This record gives sequence, structure tokens and C-alpha cells, in this order.
Amino acid sequence: MDFPLTVHAIVRRARSLHFAREVVSRLPDGSVGRTTYGAVVERAERLTVALGSIGIAPGDRVATFGWNHAEHLEAYLGVPSCGAVLHTLNVRLHPDELAYIANHAGDRAAIVDASLLPQFEAFRARTPIEHVIVVGGEAPAGMLAYEELLAASDPALFVEVELDEQSAASCCYTSGTTGMPKGVLYSHRCLALHALSVSTVDSLAVAQRETVLPVVPMFHVNAWGLPYAAAMTGAKLVLPASRLDAASLLELIVTEQVTLAAGVPTVFLPILEALDAAPGRHDVSALHTVVIGGAAAPRALIEGFDRHGVQVLHAWGMTEMAPIGTVGRVPAELAGAPYETQLSARAKQGRPVPFVEARARGDEGLVPWDGASYGELEVRGASVAAQYMGGDGAESFTADGWFRTGDVVTIDPDGTVVIQDRAKDLIKSGGEWISSVALENALMGHPAVAEAAVVAVPHERWGERPLAVVVLRDGATVTADELRAELEPRFARWWLPDEIVFADAIPKTATGKFRKTALRDLHRRG
Ligand code: ADP
Repeated sequence: MDFPLTVHAIVRRARSLHFAREVVSRLPDGSVGRTTYGAVVERAERLTVALGSIGIAPGDRVATFGWNHAEHLEAYLGVPSCGAVLHTLNVRLHPDELAYIANHAGDRAAIVDASLLPQFEAFRARTPIEHVIVVGGEAPAGMLAYEELLAASDPALFVEVELDEQSAASCCYTSGTTGMPKGVLYSHRCLALHALSVSTVDSLAVAQRETVLPVVPMFHVNAWGLPYAAAMTGAKLVLPASRLDAASLLELIVTEQVTLAAGVPTVFLPILEALDAAPGRHDVSALHTVVIGGAAAPRALIEGFDRHGVQVLHAWGMTEMAPIGTVGRVPAELAGAPYETQLSARAKQGRPVPFVEARARGDEGLVPWDGASYGELEVRGASVAAQYMGGDGAESFTADGWFRTGDVVTIDPDGTVVIQDRAKDLIKSGGEWISSVALENALMGHPAVAEAAVVAVPHERWGERPLAVVVLRDGATVTADELRAELEPRFARWWLPDEIVFADAIPKTATGKFRKTALRDLHRRG
């Protein structure tokens, strides 16, 4: 049969098979709220009806600005169900960036956490957003309260609108190295196939018996597809809202008997520290797997969780891939290998998930899968973007239909991908991007500055942090503090370089570009 792969199919499955399975959310007061997929689906359908009643039509963009909780799951299911496109705005971005993104996407409505209203108000006036729906609190004048909207909408009016599986269900923006963020649209088919693919046993193995804790925010690339995979399989979902500290997460893991958690390394490092500091204090015996991705999972982190009987699954992905691309599992050939050998295999980013294909290209064409030849990773597949919204960034796609990732890799003979370097000029701090070029341009806009280069330097907690190297104009003087003050109003706080150092010159390539590898080497050598 020509059975459309749509969010409708996931919703129907959750309603008919998993209605009694729990969805647990951390509430604003710190307590825990419980609901079920049955109730979530009913409310998602009310949301669909309500969006129609305020004039949202198929193809319209509906933004969310919120943390991980049941209402956000309702939007994940309810917005695409009316044919509209769910646009998850990243609450950590600077208001200028958010204004640009909401404009570019053409967001008509936004579902906003009450606790985030001040941040939302900082950019809302510069967007086309007509309707603001407030979750978890009272709606100020001119806005709608989510609960009132749902209460007033008649679920009997819900009809499953006919959806083309190739139509857009959601969208997300990716940080640009230069220029502005680029939009990626996910089709219904992409989300359905991605949910199926991450549920396979060689992938993340999301299953009905699991209790899944997506620590990765729902404003980050579909929360790695976990909400859809959980609703499809019937896994219990545990949603931590904004409480992402180790103590709060451990409490949820223990009391909700979480079996599978997922997030960036920065989130799991303090959890490991807490477990190490008081062995036996937290009963994490239910937890068998943590999926770590978004940045390389350090080998020590994988080894550390092993000590507590928790397997780390290392995953690599991108916004342009919905996002899971590869998952690192011990291949069958190494099943009997010594621990150290298996550990080395698990520290790699792993093999492509089903319906994703990978290859790497060097200066002389595609490189062999020999585990040694470097090349830029190119991918294609059922959950890989074919283009950016509005035709931006066309240079990222090859003429023969592959997407250029900007990651420099080696590929082992068995297809295992190892990320070796990054071709894109970005810094990843705590799982969020910082554009070195944007900081450089701002620094070079200062009258005292002749040249500025910003590079990523390793950081124990955040993975990477920005370091700025500045060359002053002849005779000019300015202090590092003065330069920081200059940057402060223009960037999110966590973008500001930890250190600004002054140098006589910045090493350059033959074509006059900053040689960032040389700067990173200099920093490494102190
Ligand atoms: P996400 O929100 O999933 O991090 P982004 O599109 O923002 O997606 O970032 C994708 C990039 O993050 C990759 O191209 C790569 O540079 C980096 N990345 C993601 N996962 C890993 C990993 N496991 N190891 C190394 N780098 C990674």
C-alpha cells in the first residue's frame, strides 16, 4: 500500500497502542508532573484544532520557544498534524539571531514558556509573529494562554488533514560560519524514517520497554528524534525542562528509573563526577545507556561510565541530518576483543544508521576506506537535507547529490567514521556553536584593532572555548577588558572569548588567511 509516512502515523500509534505509557515532565516549581501518551495526543489534537481556529493554515510556520516538557511534545505532534511546520527556536541564541531566524522562517505563531517571556520579548517585535501562546503561566495582555486555548477547542472537530509525506513537518536553523544561520526543513517522511532508524537495535535501540530521558533540548534538531521515536515505540519519556544540572538529572534518573539518556558531553561530565564522588549514593542500576553526541565523547567519559555499569553510545549527527548520522557500537568482529580494543572502537563516531550513506573526499577525489586517509565527510540519505531553505548555502551540496558536512574524517574499512578535524570555522562550547568569524569581525571593527583571529581551545568542562588573538594598530592602545565590553552587547554572554591576548602578528597562509592551526599549536605549547 502507499502508506504515507507522516507524523499522523506516529500519533495514531501512540493513541491506539501506547495510550497508557507515561510522559513525565519536570515542572517549573521543581516537582514532577505525570501524564500519558493518550492525554498528550488528545491535547495535541486540541492544539491542532486551536491553531486552525486562529487561522494557522497548512505550510504556516509555528515556532516554539521552550524547554523539554509534555507541552512541547504536544507541539511536536500537534503542529505538524495540521500541516503547519514546527519551528523550534533555540532559547540560547542572541535576540538579533532569533529575530533573523523567525523572520527568515516567516513564523506566524509562537508557543512560549512563561518563564522565557522576557527573552522572547527581546526579539518578538522584530518578527512577523502574530499569535503568542503562553505555556505554564498566565498570558499577558495580547497573548493567549495555552491551557485556555486547549480548553476552548473542541477535539471532536479534529480531522486528520491529508498530508503529503514529502511536505515539511518541522524546521531548525544551523549556525553559519560566515553569514546568517541557515534553515533546514524536515519532511514528514524524513521524521518517520529517522524515528524508525534510531529505534533499530544497532542504532539507539529506542523501544517500548525503555524509559528515555532526552537531556538534549527539544530546540536542538528534533531532540535527536527521540520524542518521535519514543511516541512511535511507546517508550516512557522523561523530560527535564530547564533543570539540566547533575543533581536534578540524577534525581530524575533514579526516581523515574531512566534506562536511556541522551545529551552532549558537557551534560554528562558532571553526572559522572557526581557518581564518582559518592559511589553507591545514586542508584543508577536501571540506566544502561547514555547516548553522547553533538561533540566528541572523550574516551575517559566512556570509560568512566563503564565503571558504573552504564554504556556510552557515541553518536555523530548534524542539523542537516535530522540529526543522527552514525552510532558507535562494538562491531560483531570485535565481540571477543579485549576491553581496550572495544573501548577504542566505541570512542569512534561509528557507522552510518540505516538509509544514511557516507564517503570522504580529499584534494584528489574520494579517499579510500583505510582508516588513515583524511577527507571531508559527505553524506546522503533519507534523513539528509537536499538543500537549505531559500536556496542558501548551495555550495554545501555536490553536483551528484551529496551533502558536504564540513567535518574532516577517516573511514575504516568497515565503514566506521572517525571525526578528525573540522573544516568549518566554528567553536562548539557546551554543545552550542560560536562563530569565530562573527567575533573576529566585531573585534576588527574596533578602531584600535588591526587584526583579530578567534580560535577554539580545548576546555575540560565546555569541550571548547574561544580564544581571541589581537594585533593592535601602530601606536593604538586598548585593554582586553575594553574589547570585551565592546563585544558584550552584541553577543550572548557565553560567546565572549575567555581570553583576549595581544600579539605582534598572526600567522597566515599563502593566500593570506589566518592560519588557525598554527595559533592552536602555539596555544597548546603555552
Ligand atoms: P547538533 O545540534 O546535533 O550538535 P549541529 O548541526 O549543530 O548539530 O552540529 C553538528 C556538528 O557537530 C558536526 O558536523 C560535528 O562537527 C559536530 N559533532 C556532532 N557530533 C559529534 C561527535 N560525536 N564527535 C565529534 N563532533 C561531533
